[in-house]
Amino acid sequence: MGEPLSCGEFSVNGHSCAVCLTERELTVRRLVGGKPTVVSLADCLGARAHRKQDADDAGGDDDSDEGDDGTSSSAFFSVYLYPLRQRRWGGFARRRVLQQFHVSGDPREGLQEARRWARAIRETSARIRHHTTGGVCAEVKRPCRILLLLNPHSGKGQAHTLFRTHVQRMLQEAAVRYTLIITERQNHARELVREADLSQWDAVAIMSGDGLLFEVVNGLMEREDWEKAIKTPLGVLPGGSGNAVAASIHHYCGLQPMSGEDLLVSCGFMLCKGLVSHLDLTSVHTASNQRLFSFLSLAWGFVADVDIESEKYRHVGAARFTVGTLVRLASLRVYQGQLSYLPAEDSGSFSSPEESVESLNDVSQQISTSSECSDDSPCTNHSLHNCCNSNNALKPKRTNQSPVSVLGPPDSLLVPLDQPVPAHWTVVSEEDFVLVLAMYQSHLAEDLIAAPASRLDDGIIHLIYVKAGISRAALLHLFLAMEKGTHLSINCPYVVYVKARALRIVPYSPKGTITVDGELVEYGPVQAQIHSSLARLIAA
Ligand code: ADP
Ligand code: MG
Repeated sequence: MGEPLSCGEFSVNGHSCAVCLTERELTVRRLVGGKPTVVSLADCLGARAHRKQDADDAGGDDDSDEGDDGTSSSAFFSVYLYPLRQRRWGGFARRRVLQQFHVSGDPREGLQEARRWARAIRETSARIRHHTTGGVCAEVKRPCRILLLLNPHSGKGQAHTLFRTHVQRMLQEAAVRYTLIITERQNHARELVREADLSQWDAVAIMSGDGLLFEVVNGLMEREDWEKAIKTPLGVLPGGSGNAVAASIHHYCGLQPMSGEDLLVSCGFMLCKGLVSHLDLTSVHTASNQRLFSFLSLAWGFVADVDIESEKYRHVGAARFTVGTLVRLASLRVYQGQLSYLPAEDSGSFSSPEESVESLNDVSQQISTSSECSDDSPCTNHSLHNCCNSNNALKPKRTNQSPVSVLGPPDSLLVPLDQPVPAHWTVVSEEDFVLVLAMYQSHLAEDLIAAPASRLDDGIIHLIYVKAGISRAALLHLFLAMEKGTHLSINCPYVVYVKARALRIVPYSPKGTITVDGELVEYGPVQAQIHSSLARLIAA
């Protein structure tokens, strides 16, 4: 239990209790009868002192109640906890528990005492998370300011409501300051972060699916100061139908699989905690020299088709991928092309970084883009408004492409797409595929663990391809096994899994679908290389 840091006597629900704070716990013991309640401070989001008993609304922080003489009423302190609780139908989810303590005696002194306790609890719980989590490279600065971008059309179109009902209060309880911007169109978030004064923000978070994070990552990489900008800690609040990165973070933390609102609350908890990890990004080149940055996946064939075709089942939320998979299975087809990759164990640079920058310059041309913010935007930050008011409107594009850019790290493993791949690459002998899927996080969707071994910053492209000839039944079995992440050990002869650092796909058919992070991109030859730990994600 550890040495007590503070002990006191307070009243809890009308019962006098001895309360003891240690480095890890808060122990509450009734003075007359009853077992002690032990509260783990690892589950604590925040604590505050206040006057009125009703602390259920964490707003209105009484820690700085100027003008009040402190004698008006009694004093309390509240502790906001989100422990993992077993759900009735199985699994675990974080559930809010409010612990409120009444400090008796002189109200003025009581308030001082309540403030001392609230501060001690906040500081102690902050220390715990620092000591107990592995893989964390930094913490979001405190007090922090978060730029929060929300796509109101993501998922079933309820992201804003979900934010208000589940996340807003958590942010207040954790004393996290944020500016909420509701996006108005595709690429709005991308334009905003491309132009934003990032010195104002300690983190940029999205409330949407993976598509909005794709916009943010690419907006940051399109900046002149990309190298610094992409180190801005990114946060994810799953409000979309494709919340693969949120599900991946859970997987890495060893938490039980969660979905929907449970996943949202758990991600809200992580965002408030603000523990930052490194995140790999993959640089993707398309035939017309578009360069994109991807944090999740590159898909061609079955998975890409399902991704895009399932858009029309958006009203069912995350289940759209299941529906899309079943529909596509009924009209299963073969995709012809050439796949090659650089195996992970052979990661030697093909050319020096300098040479690569030159070759990139050769094949690229800078195209400038413009943007517009409407005046009735819920955006509350003036510098962001000012930056984009004078520009022309950018029509939403069907594909989520970037301007051609030479910004970003050089792709030292790649040669231009019109040249053959380097000799030490592996060229797959088959040319008939059902799917090619490059993953750099574990989850393809909330309930599909496509690359269970993947980690945030392992520097590896987990390449999975399925050769033509697989039966519908076997493919269905593969996707069902993917829900548990066991599909790579079912020994299906048509399924190949390799670890790579770079890959190239050259489809033969003139029309088709390629997706990056679930977003439609230009169809045609495409190649990619991973950059380990290029970005940062709040993920622990
Ligand atoms: P979902 O997982 O539900 O598909 P995403 O975050 O992937 O949610 O967003 C879906 C698409 O919506 C992405 O292509 C994103 O760029 C785009 N988008 C973002 N904001 C808006 C908006 N305000 N209106 C329309 N599309 C938007
Ligand atoms: Mg990875």
